Amino acid sequence: MRVALTVGDFLERAELVYGEREAVVDEPGAVGGLGRLSWSEVGRRAEGMAAALDAMGVGRGERVAIVSPNSAKFFISYFGVSAWGRALVPVNFRLTADEITYIVEHSGATVLLVDPELDEGLAGVKAAERIVLDGTADAELFAPAPPGSAASWEADEDAVCSVNYTSGTTSRPKGVRLTHRNCWTNAVTFGWHTTVTDRDVLIHTLPMFHCNGWGMPYAVTGMGGRHVVLRKVDGEEILARIEREGITLACGAPAVVSAVLNAAEARRKAGEEVPGRDTMRIVVAGAPPPSRVIERVETELGWEFIQIYGLTETSPVLTVNRAPAEWDSLDPATRGRLLSRAGVPAVGIRVRVDEEGEVLARGNHVFDGYWNQPEESAKVLVDGWFHTGDGGFQEGAYTVIADRKKDVIISGGENVSSIEVEDCLYQHPGVAEVAVIGVPDDRWGETVVALVVPVRGDGSEPTPEELIEFCRARIAHFKCPTRVELRDALPRTATGKLQKFKLRAPYWEGRERLVN
Ligand code: AMP
Repeated sequence: MRVALTVGDFLERAELVYGEREAVVDEPGAVGGLGRLSWSEVGRRAEGMAAALDAMGVGRGERVAIVSPNSAKFFISYFGVSAWGRALVPVNFRLTADEITYIVEHSGATVLLVDPELDEGLAGVKAAERIVLDGTADAELFAPAPPGSAASWEADEDAVCSVNYTSGTTSRPKGVRLTHRNCWTNAVTFGWHTTVTDRDVLIHTLPMFHCNGWGMPYAVTGMGGRHVVLRKVDGEEILARIEREGITLACGAPAVVSAVLNAAEARRKAGEEVPGRDTMRIVVAGAPPPSRVIERVETELGWEFIQIYGLTETSPVLTVNRAPAEWDSLDPATRGRLLSRAGVPAVGIRVRVDEEGEVLARGNHVFDGYWNQPEESAKVLVDGWFHTGDGGFQEGAYTVIADRKKDVIISGGENVSSIEVEDCLYQHPGVAEVAVIGVPDDRWGETVVALVVPVRGDGSEPTPEELIEFCRARIAHFKCPTRVELRDALPRTATGKLQKFKLRAPYWEGRERLVN
């Protein structure tokens, strides 16, 4: 028998088995928030959403974009949109109106859902149906509906579940097309490797837009675990919610870990308790976390540290590093070092490093291509292997990510395309040449630095501050240089190609890995 694997399976089971159980705790006090919902209420509201989309004439396969910080409505949309055969387009809410317009237009989304706090700034972003999630305009969209209200969907596991835009090696973001099958196999293996059970309580420290929260929302739903929505990452607030809601599980970039460690230190200094010892586990990815940070998570917090590695293109989980039984008796520093590697392949994934040192992977949750960009897809999907653009090496079964082949900077867990920032700076009349690179940063892992050769002698030579402001007015703030350095020239090859590795070298001196 072959039954289509779709993300609807997860919610259907949670509602059937755990209907009366608390499912989602929305951010307290959020405008248009939904408070505390049971699995039955989540199920009925998801179907209500599907029925409302039916009524609006939104067909199967059509795209519904959402621009919002984490919220119960975002969570419901994972199912209300995708589980009835439409594709969700979760958009990074920190992007500018222009950047979001590009994504909405490129994906061809006919419906656009906007968080009330972002509404004004995004007034110019249009779609056939634009709905503000303020509790009034969207009252019908999120109204509960009885089973059978929405037209049933002839489930197809190869249908597109979501299109997740990611900044990469091109100046515009690319839409990663994830199928139901991709999301299903990722969620199930991820949930298995992290032993998600019905007793788990997940705090959404990861943006829901980022690769659908790495698929963890699906995994926890399938088991009937509880979700606690967090709208904004704040170390002390995370600790407070862990105490209040009995949280057991979190996912995040290394910057989230740093925020928690700082908040915990402040608590200890004040003689207050730090929650989660022996009950919390935290899954970290986005950059290689320093081994000292891992050691502190295990000793100062007493939380289990699990590292994963992957990309939006791979749904994302490629490798997992969770301490095996053999490491139980090792000292914390050694454990920290061993856990700082990306990990071993997840079940069903094959990983190898090619002759040029690039990490390649294949498996069921690798995407099937970029939205409407077959030439970009063909560049990364070659002979059955996905080219990650990351540089690394193997230590036995373990993959270590040590370098980046692609020209991407990862700051606070979000990708920044160097080319996009360079394009922006080239629009300034005082810029003759520019190279944008990532340099190590304590808070964000990496930060964006622009090396600029100004146009000289024409009186338009810009100051670094002016160039930073110039970018801030045009592209999302997290992509903007935090530092601009003026140079006389930039090193190039004989063919005129920028030698970025030479530019990066002084900033990364003495480091084992060239990514952070
Ligand atoms: P994204 O598609 O935005 O999730 O970004 C994926 C990129 O993040 C990868 O290509 C890597 O460069 C980086 N990355 C993710 N997880 C890790 C990790 N555990 N160690 C090192 N780099 C990572």
